[in-house]
Amino acid sequence: MSSGNGKRGEPRVTIGRRDFFKVYAAAGVAVLQGCRRRDQELIESPVRRSTALPGASVWRRSICEQCGAGCEIEVRTVDRLAKKIEGLPGGFVNAGGVCALGHSALQELYHPDRVTEPMRRGSSGELEPVSWEEALETTAMAIAAAPDTTTVVAGAPSGPLLGLWRRFAAAVGAPAPVHWQPSDAVVEREAARLAFGESTRPAYDLARSDYVVSVGAPFLDRWRSPVHYGAAWAELTADRRGKLVQVEARHSLTAANADEWLPVRPGSEGFFARGLAGLLLGSGTVGEEEREAYEALYPEAPPDLAATGERCGIDTGRIERLAAELPRARRPLVMAGGSALEGENGVAAGAAALALNLLLGGVGRQGGVFAGVDFGFEDRLAGDAAAALPPAALADRLAGDGESGVLVVSEADTLHGMPGLEAAFEHAGTVIACSAFFDDAALRADVVLPVQTDLERFQAVEPDPVRGVPALLVASPTVAPRGEARHPGDVALALAAAAGSALPWPGFQEAVESALSDAFAATRAADDDASDPAALPAPLIAGALNARQFVRRTTDAGGLVGTEEMRRAPAAPASGDAAEAPGSIPDPASLPAPAAPAGVESFTLIPFESLKLADGRGANRPWLQELPDPLSTVMWGSWVEVATADADRLGIHTGDIVRLTGTAAEIELPAIVLPTVRPGSVGVPVGGGHADYGRYARGRGVNVNALLDPDRRVEGAGAFARGDVRVRIERLRRPRRSERPVIYGRGLRQAEEIPVGWAPHDGGKA
Ligand code: SF4
Repeated sequence: MSSGNGKRGEPRVTIGRRDFFKVYAAAGVAVLQGCRRRDQELIESPVRRSTALPGASVWRRSICEQCGAGCEIEVRTVDRLAKKIEGLPGGFVNAGGVCALGHSALQELYHPDRVTEPMRRGSSGELEPVSWEEALETTAMAIAAAPDTTTVVAGAPSGPLLGLWRRFAAAVGAPAPVHWQPSDAVVEREAARLAFGESTRPAYDLARSDYVVSVGAPFLDRWRSPVHYGAAWAELTADRRGKLVQVEARHSLTAANADEWLPVRPGSEGFFARGLAGLLLGSGTVGEEEREAYEALYPEAPPDLAATGERCGIDTGRIERLAAELPRARRPLVMAGGSALEGENGVAAGAAALALNLLLGGVGRQGGVFAGVDFGFEDRLAGDAAAALPPAALADRLAGDGESGVLVVSEADTLHGMPGLEAAFEHAGTVIACSAFFDDAALRADVVLPVQTDLERFQAVEPDPVRGVPALLVASPTVAPRGEARHPGDVALALAAAAGSALPWPGFQEAVESALSDAFAATRAADDDASDPAALPAPLIAGALNARQFVRRTTDAGGLVGTEEMRRAPAAPASGDAAEAPGSIPDPASLPAPAAPAGVESFTLIPFESLKLADGRGANRPWLQELPDPLSTVMWGSWVEVATADADRLGIHTGDIVRLTGTAAEIELPAIVLPTVRPGSVGVPVGGGHADYGRYARGRGVNVNALLDPDRRVEGAGAFARGDVRVRIERLRRPRRSERPVIYGRGLRQAEEIPVGWAPHDGGKA
């Protein structure tokens, strides 16, 4: 055992490779849980030791929870203050990388506008500081008075914390909570259920593929696990081994990096997938087994090439070439996500795209698609509590005429994500927000309960299953919490206790440790019965003498990590619901194209997450506001991307203020004219236009979500339909000085002459 002195990559207390193997080899450990490739060091829970000299740097392991990817990070601390974040070398998901949003967690931690004490709306109508006891009592009384009309909204990624909110809702007698998550995540799961028989987000083996067709998945932008995909992309393209074809209406960063970009008409992605399947089926390259698996899902004949080209607005020669190249690849892969899944027919489009993997023989094969597996710690903490509901259930819950009782919103800015819910919020009798900031939802709350940010809290995270290998990552707090902020899990437990429905744990950490302990006992009892859902893979508990030792070992090791052998194919389609009723999958080829209003020229709105602000949570950090968008290079604000052809016709120049008008709202923002935008569509980043959210977000940009209709749904998924929205666009004026878009390194005059080298391209390596 050795003691590091704070140099990066050397945590204070480590067990060297030799000691590590001594301990576990003696116990016959087959799988080294929590073992990191960084020299096999075992990382001690950092805050248990603090003997650093004043002013010395100490690197502490933590987990980034800015999104659901679950990247492992190292935080440089000096005198117990966090100074710098880096990716943990050998991190399970990120292998040493960290994205801009992850870096900015420091600015979230030290933000001058943090909520650091409980607040309650007083008789003046303003939020006033109160004690935790008063805040909890107010909240608990409201819940106890109307438990069955209490709605819990949890923004936590899937995993133990979401499980705890489910348990909380059941304990206080409330209906199942709403899980606030990206629309396309819900749709992707449902599409995977239809295509593969298993409703988890698939694990795409991008790095080992040699030909990737991405139907809308913006994996080099902000989607699922950006750091992981960035590294996989680097592997794919090393030595120009692999090829990427991006099928997406918008010219995203992923499209800009692709070898070939097919800018299909928005809403036609599913039709494209079926048309491509038709060409593959007719090419004589598809095996009998693969054909049968596909035709069990889609018994109807696919559309022909001419119809596909016309519906998608793409040259048929390019589709033909793609169909010819795919079977020649050794490990072709089709991904689905992003805007392709966000229209009303998103499930149909996603399933049609994923089903192409069946035709290509790519399911469960290296470089193909695997099941997105986890250890099930969400369910372990939830117990018998009902599963969480998709985001649109919130609109349904609030749609009643009467008061909706209590609304408990934890780390979810529901009103920024869907401003159309504002009127429904008014119906809620009492709104409780568990938040670190005055985001749009917290501003409307009657009680605000301050929560800790990533680096201040005990963490237990099941990362997005992009690797197809299960993991539970655990980390101790890196720094002391600011003010009176508490862990959101501890808040849930305190609320349950105050409402007279105490759960059996004093805190979130104890709840996770209890779940680990139960898992150990179940694994021992199962005695290699792999079918017991409560059991872990037996090798993971090998060497631990009892549950207590197992829990200690797991938390000290930074969690439980499965092995590559645990990667598996999704359940065979034959066991899925869809295959029980062949042809029950909605066929995009038989669904009508999204309609445009008659009599007015309208454009398809494509809202997208930029690398800068993500879904809006990054808007309160100056580092991210200052970061130029990689394609438009705009900083500190919102913009709308307009096609050169459309702009010429409408007299719009870069920097002009334009108005976008939807069915229920309108927004005004500067235009950026680009030759790479598909004519007839406009792209606007989400994330700007907060009601407040602190001094760096206040007054910055506009909220494009205002143009969305909270009553539109993705058919069959319970998600808000964010795609295929029609808007009108009109030029208003040249910008006033304060309205000019800040464009990196250029004044406005020069901005109009930005050389844009991303015209639709067709690189073609095959
Ligand atoms: S991808 Fe997500 S988890 Fe990873 S560093 Fe970025 S924000 Fe954090």
